[in-house]
Amino acid sequence: MHRAPDLDDAEQTFTRYEQIRPRLPRAVRCGPATPVASLRQIAGDADAFVFDAFGVLNVGDTPIPGARTCVDALREAGKQVRVLTNAASYDHAGACAKFGRLGFDFAGHEIITSRDATLRHLRGRRWGVIAAPDDRLADLGVEAVRLPGDGPLPEGIEGILFLSAADWTAERHARLEAGLRARPLPVLVANADLVAPRGQSLSREPGYYGHLLLDRTPAPVRFFGKPFPEVYDLAEHSLPGIARERIVMCGDTLHTDILGAQAHGWKTALITRDGLFAGLETAPFVRRSRISPDWTLERI
Ligand SMILES: [Mg+2]
Repeated sequence: MHRAPDLDDAEQTFTRYEQIRPRLPRAVRCGPATPVASLRQIAGDADAFVFDAFGVLNVGDTPIPGARTCVDALREAGKQVRVLTNAASYDHAGACAKFGRLGFDFAGHEIITSRDATLRHLRGRRWGVIAAPDDRLADLGVEAVRLPGDGPLPEGIEGILFLSAADWTAERHARLEAGLRARPLPVLVANADLVAPRGQSLSREPGYYGHLLLDRTPAPVRFFGKPFPEVYDLAEHSLPGIARERIVMCGDTLHTDILGAQAHGWKTALITRDGLFAGLETAPFVRRSRISPDWTLERI
């Protein structure tokens, strides 16, 4: 059996992303990774700026200094702004409320989540759902049976929907793996991230567990969220009339934000100070992965 990888720092996370690279979209273009001081410096190159959340707008429950000011300035300059987040623990109203609590004033249509993209592909009647304890699951449109149960996988479910790892543990995951080895149901992972930066530590996200399922069980697993295309399509639909090359994705993670946006024909800016690569020089990671953004900057 594949050993579960440790993902306690950026190096380990980067190594794991490289291991699963065949499961990700292919890199199609190398940007010059030109350093800039602020997004305002490149505003003339774009009509829309799309922001990752964790590591770009906020770290955990703390907004990143200057982020709100930058978003406001871009709006005032006539730019469209969007948030494109892999966070799937909240329904759409919950995601909007969260950014409000962080001090941002994004409208509902300006926030696109991987949960939104996943639910558009959820078919059938009854699903086993892994969710945050306070998630009411009112937006799913299918009957939800919460996991973990105490015994084998519940009868009559058509698949597993993995929304949040907030309440997930190694023991619960081992039980799920055993269940899927016996009954390889389809799994939809609504957050493709391996980890999320939370201050001094990294939390393990649904993508981490989804790739373990692919390593260790015959269950078919489908991932939603960056770097996979469905969320970029949703963002583009919300930006009618704007050419792909006039959209800039601003994110802290090469294998999600940057890779997926380049595969979609967008421009990209890697944000370095607060996210996955906080405290590290990013150029070696760019070289090793050959995922190279158009621009790099510390903060937006
Ligand atoms: Mg991020």
